[in-house]
Amino acid sequence: MQVFYELLGKLFVLFIIIFFFITIIVLVLGFYSFKRHEIIFPNFILFMLYLFYSPAKWICRVFCVKEQLVDEILIEIKNAVMLENFKHVTHRRAIILPQCMRHPKCRARCDPIIGYECKQCGMCDIGKIVKEADKYNFKVFIVPGDSFVRKILQSYKPGSCLGVACHAELTESMQAVSKIVPVQGVCLLRDGCYDTKVDLVEVSKKMEMCDK
Ligand code: SF4
Repeated sequence: MQVFYELLGKLFVLFIIIFFFITIIVLVLGFYSFKRHEIIFPNFILFMLYLFYSPAKWICRVFCVKEQLVDEILIEIKNAVMLENFKHVTHRRAIILPQCMRHPKCRARCDPIIGYECKQCGMCDIGKIVKEADKYNFKVFIVPGDSFVRKILQSYKPGSCLGVACHAELTESMQAVSKIVPVQGVCLLRDGCYDTKVDLVEVSKKMEMCDK
């Protein structure tokens, strides 16, 4: 019996070592793709990094690399993989923004299904995004949380989704929404759940690249 437990222990250690090295290899491949904008084995990297998301972040911490790198890689690769499908959707396009982009004195009302309804008062960048979205035929949703994303998917039934959020939330939402419709994501430049900012040019570019 003791031999059996010893063998089991050895197998467990071997598994941990193999898993550790595979995760490092995936991180290196992902980092290369991210930096060079040349995606290698995208589906394999996406599968592995989503599967070992927390351990990959732990490995980054161990090697003193910012753990946000894991999210950056996942978002970049997901964007690349879904870009063509996203561009060609011409109906019911949606852009989903986080409520933390609103001005602290925002007076928009929150609908229990679709989130905040911007009055375009001009106090924050959301008003500018709404104008751009009108031009490119996107409907804007400003959501207080993930549960609203699910409600929007059920009620509005978008053909495609452009999401804006902080790194970790965007990574998670893109994975969930991409199972239903083509997605693209843009990370917040400044996060922190309050008065956050996004690169407006990048958001406009994502909408502009879509078929008329
Ligand atoms: S532009 Fe819209 S979201 Fe921004 S503060 Fe005004 S009403 Fe609120």
